[in-house]
Amino acid sequence: ARKFFVGGNFKMNPATREQKRALVKILNDANLDPNVEVVVAPPSLYLISILEILRKDVQVSAQNCHAKASGAYTGEISPQQLVDAGVPYVILGHSERRSLFHETSEEVAAKTRAAIDAGLKVILCVGETLEEREAGKTQAVVQAQLAVVVAALEPAQWENVVIAYEPVWAIGTGKVATCEQAQEVHAATRAYISSAISPAIADAVRIIYGGSVNAKNCKETGNQPDVDGFLVGGASLKPEFVDIVNTKR
Ligand code: 13P
Repeated sequence: ARKFFVGGNFKMNPATREQKRALVKILNDANLDPNVEVVVAPPSLYLISILEILRKDVQVSAQNCHAKASGAYTGEISPQQLVDAGVPYVILGHSERRSLFHETSEEVAAKTRAAIDAGLKVILCVGETLEEREAGKTQAVVQAQLAVVVAALEPAQWENVVIAYEPVWAIGTGKVATCEQAQEVHAATRAYISSAISPAIADAVRIIYGGSVNAKNCKETGNQPDVDGFLVGGASLKPEFVDIVNTKR
């Protein structure tokens, strides 16, 4: 059985170190379902200090990394540096990175390979825009984004990947995908992984949903057979994140 996975993507929040400590306190004081893998992704500036004060059954993730191990790449952080700092996860291919920072699927695939080679686990984000959905291209877009990563990884490396399906139109909009829409894409994506890699990997890989997830809409979507958890943005900065972690309780 796939372990339910709930990630909190803090994006460029919180604004102060005091708010950062308050966020950690919410988690440290919470009664969290022990059957859920919980990972929070603060800005890289806070990774080490959060690692030092956060309960040990909640993991941390970076929000991005470079594909190279070191060198003249001003402003970047390498997978090796994250591993050395004790950070187990990195989010790659988030739609904000793809659209606002012009990351291509090829760059995302190279980063994914480099991150896993260095010893990180990857939360790999894919998803279509509203225009692409309305043109009936959702699955083609998601598969094209994944195909580049399929080509870049050894099959066994998928053990270190969590796929996050995040429809761009649902991110930060309050417009959550229906549970049927999420299930449909997750099932088709699992079928794609099965044919592109192997049935065993398709059965084991977690496919989580992201986009306007909150404490109210998480139950229905979280109970779909191919939805293995969530990647939460805005609500991960609030106490309701605990309720989303506890979706299955
Ligand atoms: P929201 O939950 O704020 O819509 O963000 C989703 C997201 O982008 C998580 O990575």
